[in-house]
Amino acid sequence: MSVWRMQAPHRTNSPYKGLHGVEEVSAKMRGVTLDLHTCGVFGAAQHLLAQRAFPAPSGDERLAFVRDRDRVVQSRAFRRLAGKTQVFTSRASDHFRSRLTHTMEVAQVARHVASALGLNEALAETLALVHDIGHPPFGHAGERALDRCLQSHGLRFDHNLHALRIVERFEQRYAGHRGLNLTLGTREGIIKHSRDYTSSAYPELSEYFLDQRPPLEAQIIDLADEIAYLTADLDDGVESGHLEIAHIRDHVAILQRCYDVVESAHPGCAEKYIFHDALQAMQKALTLDLIETTAKNVSKACASSLADIRAYPERMAVFSPQAESERMQEKRYLYDTLYTCSALELEHSKAEEVVTELFEFWVDEPSELPDGYIAEIESDGIARVVADYIAGMTDHFILLQYAEVRRSVRSGRVPMRSIAK
Ligand code: MG
Repeated sequence: MSVWRMQAPHRTNSPYKGLHGVEEVSAKMRGVTLDLHTCGVFGAAQHLLAQRAFPAPSGDERLAFVRDRDRVVQSRAFRRLAGKTQVFTSRASDHFRSRLTHTMEVAQVARHVASALGLNEALAETLALVHDIGHPPFGHAGERALDRCLQSHGLRFDHNLHALRIVERFEQRYAGHRGLNLTLGTREGIIKHSRDYTSSAYPELSEYFLDQRPPLEAQIIDLADEIAYLTADLDDGVESGHLEIAHIRDHVAILQRCYDVVESAHPGCAEKYIFHDALQAMQKALTLDLIETTAKNVSKACASSLADIRAYPERMAVFSPQAESERMQEKRYLYDTLYTCSALELEHSKAEEVVTELFEFWVDEPSELPDGYIAEIESDGIARVVADYIAGMTDHFILLQYAEVRRSVRSGRVPMRSIAK
């Protein structure tokens, strides 16, 4: 049963009648099916995508994607998300999101959307929980720096492909195999949730249905990610003091609309509480828009199976044109006022310096790498191996490494090449 029907008895209690709420959408959706079960990963499609490189242990009764989810949650890479930056590289407040809490927020949205559309909730949740494990330390600044370093060796850094390397190779915890031995469906979703890959450019990924769209359970992850961080970054931006509520209201139309509705329901209430409720209402409005638009697109395309979803020339999980333009407006606002503000730019340039100097140091001094990484140099080349090592680090660990390397250079134990004294 979909969430829509389960929520129906409570729908008259919303204090925010002007908002794009459950009751309003439910009414608008009458006549349009929300149950996309036949287009989701169930039955034969699930059987195909539940394949693993090594058979699951006999007697393990969990559903395939539930087992994947449990393995992701128990992985070291997942636990390291707690120490990785989402937006603020140095945590001036314990209230800011880390990559781990961001990931949990994405999982909330993804579960809601998957459940409302009748999709495979366990697969969607697994993909949400694993979607950021390929991110290096220091957020996008770290990713930019690592990509630049690799480009000078003719390579690139792609966090989705790196996530695949983590789950297939670097999680070495099991007796019978290397990696987490995840299903084909989870591995496909890891690389394709936010972009498509062509078979001509990526022949090594041929098993992942290249040149076809991923299942809806994967398509919704990128937008669940957008919904989660667009909400959270306004919240953390205000908490940090870099953004002001009045300024946001003047420049972010969707937030302003939600704010007005909450304010009229709670006249005289303190601004910070109205803002919080407005953020929640905004998140809900975007989530419902995604649910509604996806269902409409599937209906319009007369899609009735995963094969139809895969063969369609575009992704069907998208926002409506209005929500999309409001999303873009908010994203531009966050870039202009938060992501590129001078305080964060200073943190970003320091982060890029740390990543770049360490990368160049280990490329020059491979014997200073841990033994496990030295063993990979012959097959993968020094640049990729150093990138793998750095990408796995938390913010805290890379700063410890940086201090340690600088001490070694200062003491004369290793020669100074690229690293600054
Ligand atoms: Mg994310």
